[in-house]
Amino acid sequence: MFSNYKFTAASRFINYVQIDTQSDPQSDQHPSTAKQFNLSKVLVEELLAMGISDAHVDEWGYVYATLPSNTDKAVPVICFCSHVDTAPDCSGEHVKPIVHSNYQGQDIVLPDDTSLVITAKDYPYLTEHIGHDVITASGLTLLGADDKSGVAEIMDFANYMMQHPELKHGTIRLLFTPDEEIGQGTAKIDLAKLGATVAYTLDGGEAGTLEDETFSADGVTITVHGVIAHPGYAKGKLVNALKIVGEILAALPKDNMSPETTEKREGFFHPTHIEGIAEKASVGFIIRDFENHLLEAHTAQLKSIAESVLAKYPQATMDFTVKEQYRNMRFILDQHPHITIYAAEAYKRAGLTVVKEPIRGGTDGSRLSYMNLPCPNIFTGMQAIHSKKEWIGVKDMQKAVEVLVHLAQIWEEKAIH
Ligand SMILES: [Zn+2]
Repeated sequence: MFSNYKFTAASRFINYVQIDTQSDPQSDQHPSTAKQFNLSKVLVEELLAMGISDAHVDEWGYVYATLPSNTDKAVPVICFCSHVDTAPDCSGEHVKPIVHSNYQGQDIVLPDDTSLVITAKDYPYLTEHIGHDVITASGLTLLGADDKSGVAEIMDFANYMMQHPELKHGTIRLLFTPDEEIGQGTAKIDLAKLGATVAYTLDGGEAGTLEDETFSADGVTITVHGVIAHPGYAKGKLVNALKIVGEILAALPKDNMSPETTEKREGFFHPTHIEGIAEKASVGFIIRDFENHLLEAHTAQLKSIAESVLAKYPQATMDFTVKEQYRNMRFILDQHPHITIYAAEAYKRAGLTVVKEPIRGGTDGSRLSYMNLPCPNIFTGMQAIHSKKEWIGVKDMQKAVEVLVHLAQIWEEKAIH
C-alpha cells in the first residue's frame, strides 16, 4: 500500500523544526508568541498547494483544514490534531536538525556541544532504529519533535490522501494548535467550527503506544497570613509566614507522594513555586493521580499536613484553595470504546503491536475529551522531549502516517449506509 509512496514526513519535519515556535508561559496573548504564526502560515501554504482549499489560520493561531468526505456513507467527522509550539524548557531558536542516516548503534555526539551524547544505553529504544535514519538537534537547542513530528505526520497523511482519492473516508478535519506546552492549547479552539465528534492528538512517543489515559490534575495554593511587627520590637508578637511555609514544606513526606519517589500509577503532590514576605507567604502545588478519589485523598492529606503546622501558630491563618486543572480522559473514552478500538485496529494494520500506556501528565486531549471531543493520543516517535538530546526515528514517523491512513479508512468501513 505504501511501497510506491515517497514519505514526506521527515523532510517536512526538518523544515518545521528550523522555525522557532517556542511558547511563553508569562505571556497573556493568544497565541502566547507571535512567532508561532510563522509555522502556521507555512502549513496553510502547503495544505493549499496540496489542493486542500479551505486551509487557513485564524487570529488565535489555529490552523483548520478539511479533507472532504468521498463516500456516501454517514461517517462521523474525525479530527487529527497536533501542536506547533515547542516547550519553554529549552531554547528553540536556530535549531539545526541533523539526519544520522543508516544509524548503526553508535553513540551520537552532538557537534555543537560535544558533552552531550545520546547513547543506546540511556535510550535503549535507539537500537530499534539501527539501519534506519535518526534525527537529532546539534546540541544547543531542543529538536522540537514535540510536537513538530506530529505536525509533519498529519501533513504527510494529508498529502497521501490527496494523492489517493480512491481511498474512501469521511470528512476529516486537520487541526494545528498553538500553546499546548503552556496549557493553553485549547483556550481559543472553535469546536463548533471544527465540527468533529472524535479527535486524535499526535503527541505520543514510541511507535505502537496508544494513550487513552492521563493524570487527573488539580492545583493547590496555600497562603499563610502571619503577624507583622517591627523586628526590633517583635518579641512575642511577630509570626513569620515565610517560616511557617518552610515548615509545611519540611513536613511533606520524604519517601513517597512526590514526583521523585513515584512512578507508573502512583500519584503525588508537588510544590512548584513559592513567594512571599514575612507577613504573607504562599506556596503552589500540583496534585496528580489517575483516580479522582485518590486525587481528593492527596489534597486532603496535604491540607491536614498544613493544618497541623498551622495549629502551632494560633495567630496565623491559612487559605487553602483547590483549582481543577484537568481530568483523566479515560473516564470519557470508556463511554466511547470504539474510538480507541479503531485506533488499535489501525496500528495492527500498520504492523504494530499496541502498547497502552497511561500518561503521567496531561495532553490537549484530556481537555478536549471533557469539552465533548473524546481524544486519545497516538504516537509520533518523539523521544527525550523537552531536552537537547531530543531525537526521533524516521521509521516511526512513517508508521504514524500509515496509522492515520488506515484509521481514516477504518472509520469509513465501520460506518453504515
Ligand atoms: Zn507535545
